[in-house]
Amino acid sequence: MITPYLPIYRRTGVTITRGQGCYLEDSSGKRYLDFAAGIGVNSFGHGHPALVAALKSQAETLWHCSNQFLTPALEKFSHALVAASFADSVFFCSSGAEAVEAGIKFLRRYHYETGAPYRHRIITFEGGFHGRTYGGISAGGNDSARAGFGQLLNGFDRVAFNDVAAVERAISKNTAGILLEPVQGEGGVRAFDLAFLRQIRALCDREGILLMCDEVQCGYGRPGALFAFERAGIVPDIASVAKGIGGGFPLGATLVTERVGAVLPAGSHGSTYGSNPLAMAVAQEVLNLMLAPGFFAHVETMGARLKAGLAALAATHPAVIADIRGVGLMLGLVPTGDARALAAKLLEQGLVTAPTVTNVLRLMPPLNVSAEEVDEALQKIAQVM
Ligand SMILES: *Cc1c(COP(=O)(O)O)cnc(C)c1O
Repeated sequence: MITPYLPIYRRTGVTITRGQGCYLEDSSGKRYLDFAAGIGVNSFGHGHPALVAALKSQAETLWHCSNQFLTPALEKFSHALVAASFADSVFFCSSGAEAVEAGIKFLRRYHYETGAPYRHRIITFEGGFHGRTYGGISAGGNDSARAGFGQLLNGFDRVAFNDVAAVERAISKNTAGILLEPVQGEGGVRAFDLAFLRQIRALCDREGILLMCDEVQCGYGRPGALFAFERAGIVPDIASVAKGIGGGFPLGATLVTERVGAVLPAGSHGSTYGSNPLAMAVAQEVLNLMLAPGFFAHVETMGARLKAGLAALAATHPAVIADIRGVGLMLGLVPTGDARALAAKLLEQGLVTAPTVTNVLRLMPPLNVSAEEVDEALQKIAQVM
């Protein structure tokens, strides 16, 4: 018999009842170290007092009002996000897929508004993941996400990962832009070469097309910087953000530079829940915590500690671990055997990880994870080895 909640997820059979810091607790009282963080969502773990306080305080003031009004929460957070980033303006929505969808629309609309409506095709990459809307699955590299859903969105040219020549070949007079995740998440924690990203930026400038970075998973503090593209020293024209931005409160954002934002007319896009004051208030606190002096260095230090520990385990257990990869606190463990079976064993041992559609296990703890917690996770992995 079917469950009342649609059985479209591969569930573990565990029911989670509480979260505190980097730990989750199930219905039997068993505790787990959470190295999935809701798939890169809980940037500051569970029940962070500053986030709880921000949510409570906003809940007592104003939950929601339509986008025909400004709210102090929207004015404050949009200002803060723009000040902290490459962007000059930002559109808010409630999920990553919506943030990508908006970016795809803005990318095309930009050319329409600037006299080149024939520029509507977008170059994407094998292994890419961009959410579950028709735009997202059409852009993404996963055929199984498209199966059975009929007519897709037209206009995507998918090319090989990290291949500049393939991108150059794919560019035509109809190309509007290039969409990529600087570090692919679902595609198996694969980082594009920094030199490749710089070449892509230069290519976009030369061809008069736009670069959109999907930073929904790899961005927002996880790479030890606000965005993963910063590692290459480049700036995109559009970036989609979600997951970590709300620390667990549903929020997505599409960030744009002035030249893109300035041509989008009123009424061209929208979202009822976009800029919801509860989301704005929590995200403001997430950003405050993230921009505190030394925080990105902490992410980098913890990421390096975890990666070094994993590399040591890989060296002593070459029959089990084939590779360790990733950036900051977005790490991938490539097992020689089945990643899902390994994830199940780790869960039994009290460590939550995040499988991908490829045979790679993601380790993405809360960004405020401590050295002790990193060591505890490594111990649990060693026990399973
Ligand atoms: C998770 C993800 C999305 C989709 O986000 P949702 O909030 O699930 O809609 C889009 N792009 C990337 C890179 C992601 O990792």
